[in-house]
Amino acid sequence: MRYKSCYWIESGINFDIDSYKVCCLYSAKGGGNTIVKDNYKGEPVDWDNFFDFKKKIKDLHKSGKIYPKCEGCISLEERDWPDDHTKISMINLDYWTKCNSRCSYCHTMNDKEAYNKYKNYNFLPILKDMIKRDILRPNGHVSFGGGEVTLLKEFDKLLHIFMDYGFPLTRIHSSCIKYSRAIEKGLKTGRVDLIVSIDAGSKQMHEKVKQVKSFDKVWKNLKRYASHQKDPFAVKVKYIVIPGLNDNKDEIELWLKKAKENGINCVLQEIESKWFYARRDNVPDEIIEFFNYTQEKAKNLGLKYELYERAEHMMKFKKEKEGA
Ligand code: SF4
Ligand code: SF4
Repeated sequence: MRYKSCYWIESGINFDIDSYKVCCLYSAKGGGNTIVKDNYKGEPVDWDNFFDFKKKIKDLHKSGKIYPKCEGCISLEERDWPDDHTKISMINLDYWTKCNSRCSYCHTMNDKEAYNKYKNYNFLPILKDMIKRDILRPNGHVSFGGGEVTLLKEFDKLLHIFMDYGFPLTRIHSSCIKYSRAIEKGLKTGRVDLIVSIDAGSKQMHEKVKQVKSFDKVWKNLKRYASHQKDPFAVKVKYIVIPGLNDNKDEIELWLKKAKENGINCVLQEIESKWFYARRDNVPDEIIEFFNYTQEKAKNLGLKYELYERAEHMMKFKKEKEGA
């Protein structure tokens, strides 16, 4: 049947530190954050309840309405969706908070010590349960968010299971301060991609944003990862634009140059969350121009340029406003 939906509604799940949700997005006008179970500590998932929750969203969408939290989401697409709502093919993992970086924009900076000590639940038993129940489709997409993935005790095991299970793409976000042989192995298969947020061109700006001295180490590790990538666009560097701090052209040009020098072929640009959520309907033209400038410069250097999630919404809202 033809209706508006997204791959997360159809077949996704997000495991957060204390909940599980339909997806991990917050950028839609409706706010996203589609919590199904709150106060979650890793107990067996009530799959019947989870799939019922999604069925209700789908039935609402089939009736022509939109689930309020999904209003305005760029992931919504009107098309014929398969009539099967009891399988999972997209998993996002955000259930741990320990990290070796101190990014100024990170929610964990509210109380870094506590987040670094926080004892996360284990996902391994949940994954095994999903495989046993045959609800995991082997054609899916997994994303590791964070905390820092290389500090997650069960990461290597999980990655091996996803690779063995035949998942065609596993996306890994890392601070890149610690090198991982498991990530290297994944990059060699062409079924893993790695995203590292640098947010600066110079060492000085990097320290201001990251609040740790890791600039040289991160680029050294990135170069090493890039030398192992089977897919030439697998290792990606990201620049989260923090208006008033790193939105300057010298930093962007240095960042693009560094990417090129270190064998990276794909760059991503994002907008800082708090700034964006406070202004999502009123983004100044200079910011849009700054993104367009970056895109042009990246193109001139032969780099693939992509917008990350909030930035994609930002550009969409801006276009809609101009067209209104
Ligand atoms: S439409 Fe957007 S907010 Fe709603 S479930 Fe899909 S990705 Fe998440
Ligand atoms: S790397 Fe990620 S988890 Fe770590 S401080 Fe930065 S944003 Fe937070």
